[in-house]
Amino acid sequence: MAQVIYLNGEFVSKEDAKVSVYDHGFLYGDGIFEGIRIYEGNIFKCDEHLQRLYDSAKSIMLDIPLSYEEMEQALVETVKRNQLKNGYIRLIVSRGAGNLGLDPRRCPVANVIIIVEQLAIYKEEDYLNGLKIVSVSTRRNVPDALNPKIKSLNYLNNILVKIQANLAGVGEALMLNSQGYVAEGSGDNIFIVKNGVLTTPPSYVGALEGITRAVIMELCEQLGYKVKEEPFALHDVYVADEVFLTGTAAEVIAVREVDARIIGEGAAGPITTHLLQEFRKIVHVDGVKVPY
Ligand code: PMP
Repeated sequence: MAQVIYLNGEFVSKEDAKVSVYDHGFLYGDGIFEGIRIYEGNIFKCDEHLQRLYDSAKSIMLDIPLSYEEMEQALVETVKRNQLKNGYIRLIVSRGAGNLGLDPRRCPVANVIIIVEQLAIYKEEDYLNGLKIVSVSTRRNVPDALNPKIKSLNYLNNILVKIQANLAGVGEALMLNSQGYVAEGSGDNIFIVKNGVLTTPPSYVGALEGITRAVIMELCEQLGYKVKEEPFALHDVYVADEVFLTGTAAEVIAVREVDARIIGEGAAGPITTHLLQEFRKIVHVDGVKVPY
């Protein structure tokens, strides 16, 4: 079945899904986006993703030309038309076409794009063995310059991290903030486990308030694990019993090595494994169901 893409209320083929080169998303990274998963026909945590999208839009004064309900409907319809049961949704709202100046008042209508695709970023064995990652010299953009709660199209910072990860021959890397606290990966949040207690950096350190991160914190509470939002340094990562990353695409993935330090036993630890199991129990339950 041919893939169709939602483009401003119409469904078009991949070849016809085009926006203007004057779009300020293209010219300036002026826009916002969400990455969402579909598990067995369930748009996982749909509300939470839409809430973050509309909050990001409000913060940057971007008018989304669809109501919250219409946007949810557009997501459902796009998944349905593609007959996708398991996959990934990329929802993009850019400022729209303007002129070459920065002024967003020259962009009368935002572009709304929804792309759905199959997804497999990690192999099952990666979840068992854990990833090898490094820390990089690229620092996280400071929160008072661009608040990390805004999921904007401005990902150059993260791309620089990805380039350094590529050069180091690994798939993911850790970014510190300008004070040397661990912020997050290029596209994932981080948790460390020490003596049974989980810690993740607070947003003000420079971490996106990840939806998967929130799910894991909720699961910790339900399962009786203590979880804290507190800044920590690379040293704390090196000496942690377990380290894992969370993200819509990555889910809950163990880290076995950071900057050549072996973490714990050098494979997914018991708490990471438990949380991944519990996470996988709810992904096809908690969300919006697509009526195919
Ligand atoms: N941090 C960054 C920079 C991200 O882009 C993402 C999303 N891929 C995450 C963290 C994880 O957030 P979520 O769990 O909402 O996907």
